[in-house]
Amino acid sequence: MTLAFFVPALFYVAFFILNGILPGRWVSGYITKPDSTEKMKYRLNGILVFFTTVLVWFLLGYSGIFAYDWLYIYRWNELYGAFTFGIIFSLAVVLPYPSIRNSFWKDFYLGRVDNLQWWNGRIDVKMLLYLVGAIMLELNALSFAAHHFIVYGENASPGILLSTALLTYFVIDYLTFEEVHLYTYDIFAENIGFKLGWGCLVFYPYFYVISLWSTVDLPNPDTSSWLLGVYVFVFFIGWCLSRGANLQKYFFKKNPSIPFLGIVPEAITDGNNFLLVNGFWGMSRHINYLGEILMSTGIILCTGYPALIGPWLYPLYYVGLLFTRQMDDDKRCVLKYGELWNVYKQKVPYRIIPFIY
Ligand code: NDP
Repeated sequence: MTLAFFVPALFYVAFFILNGILPGRWVSGYITKPDSTEKMKYRLNGILVFFTTVLVWFLLGYSGIFAYDWLYIYRWNELYGAFTFGIIFSLAVVLPYPSIRNSFWKDFYLGRVDNLQWWNGRIDVKMLLYLVGAIMLELNALSFAAHHFIVYGENASPGILLSTALLTYFVIDYLTFEEVHLYTYDIFAENIGFKLGWGCLVFYPYFYVISLWSTVDLPNPDTSSWLLGVYVFVFFIGWCLSRGANLQKYFFKKNPSIPFLGIVPEAITDGNNFLLVNGFWGMSRHINYLGEILMSTGIILCTGYPALIGPWLYPLYYVGLLFTRQMDDDKRCVLKYGELWNVYKQKVPYRIIPFIY
């Protein structure tokens, strides 16, 4: 169906417009403007764009204009459309800027420009990309789950409902703490190219639902309630580690003397830089990555088919992404912190998994 091919691009344009016109709050970010000590400014309204979109989706479904499982039925055509749009977008944000590496393909993949802001700064392109990906992911998850409930009715799997609820929680949590994301690697260390552009427009919304994609057409696996409880527990342990670490660092960077959850920050310093060494940042150097992996594991296990490979691709992808990202971040921090980083490594010897890795 041709319309389905264009649906991702049409939706992305709609999210872009909502991002620009709905009320937002201006905040100062973590990084500074080029050749200046002034912090970058961002206008954030992700959670409002999210709820507005989901409300419109429900109303369209309720009125019969847009079947609740439309996005599931035409998912392949949409994926092809998103794929094409993602490539066009990546070219559009790379080609106009001067080369910064000795290879066009590296430039295309990693990007050339650090930060882009449109519409008089109302829209930050990196934050828009994450927002667009998150909302499309949510609509896909809702539509895929709706398909399961339409097909199976009374015999539908509660695990599909739970998995969708956890994915929704994951998206809402990200948008609630959108400002904290300004302090993360993608924002301060990455350029805008295929990796970020195509990644947010295609990979994020279509791959992160892979556990639902691979199981909503299957019957209820009758997973016992206590096992579903364990999976939800795994998810929330992961969430505590990830959100806890990110917030502890965020508050520390804003004001190093503010306690977080009663934890008084303990830091090492070389006189110029400070590194947290207690709380979440004392467990391992990237406990937040372990948290992310546990959350994804909880989400996929709820769908109830642990012997299928499809759902496992989601946490496995995180293992690949975050274990290599830890190494990249480590190299970056050695350059930035020098000897202080070695002291930190002695104090907090584990990279990601306490006592194991
Ligand atoms: P971190 O939030 O761990 O940020 C790493 C940076 O934090 C370092 O470069 C350094 O930057 C600073 N830092 C490191 N150690 C310390 C310390 N002890 N004290 C103070 N500052 C320190 O990693 P990311 O930005 O990669 O990830 C952010 C979040 O996003 C994580 O929770 C991660 O799991 C999540 N994520 C989610 C993904 C998803 O698809 N859902 C994908 C990737 C990440 P500085 O220069 O500021 O000192």
